[in-house]
Amino acid sequence: MTDQYAVIGNPIGHTKSPLIHGLFAEETRQDMAYAAIEGPLEPEQAFADVVRAFAASGGKGMNVTAPFKLKAFAMADERSERAELAGAVNAMKFENGRVIAENFDGIGLVRDIEVNLGLKMAGKRVLILGAGGAVRGALLPFLAARPVEMIIVNRDVVKGKALVAQIGACDSLKACGYGDLETMGRFDLVVNATSASLTGDLPPVPPSVFSPDGAAYELAYGKRLTPFLRLARNAGVSMIADGVGMLVEQAAEAFDWWRGVRPATRAVIDRLTVPLE
Ligand code: NDP
Repeated sequence: MTDQYAVIGNPIGHTKSPLIHGLFAEETRQDMAYAAIEGPLEPEQAFADVVRAFAASGGKGMNVTAPFKLKAFAMADERSERAELAGAVNAMKFENGRVIAENFDGIGLVRDIEVNLGLKMAGKRVLILGAGGAVRGALLPFLAARPVEMIIVNRDVVKGKALVAQIGACDSLKACGYGDLETMGRFDLVVNATSASLTGDLPPVPPSVFSPDGAAYELAYGKRLTPFLRLARNAGVSMIADGVGMLVEQAAEAFDWWRGVRPATRAVIDRLTVPLE
């Protein structure tokens, strides 16, 4: 029988996940179907009811997208360390009536940077803009890549500092406000993990943080040259990228977790890429 998977979100019309997993299934010859489900926003327990009904009808796993990543975390029976730190879940597996939860966003981001873009973070200075769900999911995979220094900058500085405190003793990790950046010199990698680009806004980051032989990475995707990427390019940064590779890589991690086979990602990334210019 064909194994059933789905992505759940609201709205869900924009999702690329059925296309991505369909291409992965074709390539790896897996007998599986992958649907998009518009999850209910209310009442409170309706989301968990829909997930449990999908699992009870034989569903094997689900991806979770906005605004349900916290609800998926709350309803899980088991969570990975990454999901625990993120406080958010983007993939679930259903086994023996239990909901097992993961967060592959961060590992997908690190894979895109290190493998696809070829930028090894070990020994590098890394600046991350934002302290929301995506950053929470990315922190452990980023630290595992051993940058010499990693700074988290957020408008709400208390939120950034709380996130750093949650990691515990770690000399290379610090949080600050945007006003502190002017005196911090250049970074090898600047990652825009704020949601500013979704509304065409630019976080108040000074051009002095960019290094011409470094890189700038924008988590949002399909938005061409966002104000952040434009700022980086005008500062002379030659390696700029958006988050389409992260999207495909996190999907590949989930696919591997569910099916035990890792799909190739290059052709899928190329197919989904919207040129930046
Ligand atoms: P959250 O809503 O959890 O966090 C938003 C963050 O952005 C907060 O740190 C907030 O700061 C900051 N922010 C919002 N607007 C501005 C602004 N104008 N200037 C400065 N900072 C701002 O969002 P997520 O972490 O879930 O998502 C962040 C981005 O990552 C989005 O663009 C999303 O689309 C993208 N994403 C991409 C994925 C991919 O696969 N490529 C996967 C997941 C996310 P404050 O706390 O001060 O309000």
